[in-house]
Amino acid sequence: MLSKNEVIERLRSIVGEENVLVGDDINEEYTRDEALTVKPCLPEVVVKPGSTEEVAKILSLANEKRIPVTPRGGGTGLSGGCVAVSGGILLSLERMNRILEIDEENYVAIVEAGVVLADLYKAVEARGFYYPIYPGEESATIGGNVATNAGGMRAVKYGVTRHYVLGLEAILPTGEIMQTGGKYVKVSTGYDLAQLLVGSEGTLAVVTKVTLKLLRRPKAKTTLFAPFRNLSDGIRAVPAIFKSGVIPVTIEFLEKLGLNAMEDYTGKKVPISERVRDEAEAFLLIVIEGKSSEEAFGDAEFISDICMKHGAIDVFVPPTERAGRELLKLREKAFYAAKDGGATDLVDVVVPRGEIPNFVEQIHKMSAKYATIIAGAGHAGDGNIHLAIFEQDADKLSTILEEIYRVGKNLGGAISAEHGIGSEKRRFLLEMENKAKIELMRRIKKAFDPNNVLNPGKIF
Ligand SMILES: Cc1cc2nc3c(=O)[nH]c(=O)nc-3n(C[C@H](O)[C@H](O)[C@H](O)COP(=O)(O)OP(=O)(O)OC[C@H]3O[C@@H](n4cnc5c(N)ncnc54)[C@H](O)[C@@H]3O)c2cc1C
Repeated sequence: MLSKNEVIERLRSIVGEENVLVGDDINEEYTRDEALTVKPCLPEVVVKPGSTEEVAKILSLANEKRIPVTPRGGGTGLSGGCVAVSGGILLSLERMNRILEIDEENYVAIVEAGVVLADLYKAVEARGFYYPIYPGEESATIGGNVATNAGGMRAVKYGVTRHYVLGLEAILPTGEIMQTGGKYVKVSTGYDLAQLLVGSEGTLAVVTKVTLKLLRRPKAKTTLFAPFRNLSDGIRAVPAIFKSGVIPVTIEFLEKLGLNAMEDYTGKKVPISERVRDEAEAFLLIVIEGKSSEEAFGDAEFISDICMKHGAIDVFVPPTERAGRELLKLREKAFYAAKDGGATDLVDVVVPRGEIPNFVEQIHKMSAKYATIIAGAGHAGDGNIHLAIFEQDADKLSTILEEIYRVGKNLGGAISAEHGIGSEKRRFLLEMENKAKIELMRRIKKAFDPNNVLNPGKIF
C-alpha cells in the first residue's frame, strides 16, 4: 500500500513536478464546474498530463491503487461531471491542446482532447472549413464535448457532437490505450465503441484524441427575430418552417422574462419598437445559411412570411451579418444572465418538438402553483428547453425539478438533451429511467472499469 505522498511522488515522476498540484496550489476553478447546484469539492491532487502515454500511466497507477480519477476539460459543464466528488486525482487535459492535423482531402481534423472550441473554430476556418457544432461556451474542450455529446444552437441543421466523431483514442481505466474509428465515413466492423464513449461523461474511458468530420464553410448567413403575442403561435410556426423545405441552422425561442434578463445583463437592446415590445410575450430567433447573401436573404424573406402567417407581430431582419451575430450573442448570455439574476438551477429537458407549447404551458402552471419564477428559453428547432428556476428553498426546488422531469418524460422526452447527468441529475435518472437500461449501463461500466476508479459518483 502506497502512502498519499508516495502516490504524489509517482505522479510527479510521470508528468513532471510542475504538472502536479496539491494543497493550496490547487486553484478554486479545479473544485467546480458551472452547475448551479453542485457543491465544490477539493481533489487531493490535480494532475496535468501532456501525452497519451502519461494518461495511460496515471490510470494504470490509479487502478492498481484504487484511487478515484475525475477527468476534466474546460470545466464549463452544467451537471457537476468534472467535479471530484470522491476526492482522489483530478485529471486535467488542459495541456493536451494540440491540433494535430487538418486533412483537407478527407475533410477531417485530428485533435487532442484538451483543444478548446475557440481554437478549433479558428484553425479550421482559416483553411475554409467549418466545424458546425456550437455549444455556446467556446472555452469548452473537444474532450468535454465528446464526453457530454454537446449540442447547442446549430443542432437543428447539423446535429450534435456524435455526428462529427469519426474516431477516438481513449485510455481505459486499466491503463490500456484503445483506438477506434478513423478517417472514414462508414464502418461496420464490430461494436461502435467510439459512439459508446460519446456521452459517457468520463465514466468509461479518458478520451485523448478525437478524429472529427469537417464541412465546407457556408458563404452567407442571415438572422431573423420574430416577436409573437404568445409562445404557442411562435412554436406552431416551427413545423411550417420545416415543411417549407428551408432548414434553418438555428431556431431558438425566448420568453419575455428571459429576453429582459439577457438585455439587462448585457446592457444591449434588441431593436424592436416599444409597441411590439409591449405586445410580445415570446420570440423566435432564426438563423439561415446560404451559398450566397442573395440566397440567404431570399430564404429569410420566405421564412418571415411563414412567421407572419403564424401570428408574428413583426419580423426584424438585421441589416448585416454582424448585426445578426450581435443578436445571437445576446442569446448566448442566457446562462450568465440567469445566474446573475439569482437562478438556483438550470434544466435542459428535451421533448418532441411539437410538445413544446404543451410542456411550457405545464411549466407556467407549475410556476404559479409553487409561486416560483421559472423562465424558459431554448432550442425550438430540436425540442430542447432550458428552464432557469429561481427557488431558494432546497426541498421545494427538488420537488419542482422532479415534477419538471416527470412532465418532460410523460410527453415522450428525456431528462437531459445536452448537459448530461453528472452527479446533479443522478437521482432523477435512476428513479425515472427504464430499469433494464440502467442495469445494462451498470454492466457496461463494470466491463470498462471493474474497480470503479473512473469518475465515480457520476451517472449512477
Ligand atoms: C454559458 C454556457 C453555455 C453552454 N451552452 C451549451 C450548449 O448550448 N450546449 C451544450 O451541449 N452545452 C452547453 N454548455 C455546457 C458545456 O459547455 C458542455 O457540457 C461542454 O461539452 C463541457 O465541456 P468541458 O470541456 O468544459 O467539460 P468539463 O466540464 O470539464 O467536463 C464535462 C464532462 O466531460 C468529462 N470529460 C472532460 N474531458 C474528458 C476527456 N478528455 N475524456 C473523458 N471525459 C472527459 C468530465 O469528466 C465531465 O463528466 C454550456 C455551458 C456554459 C457555461
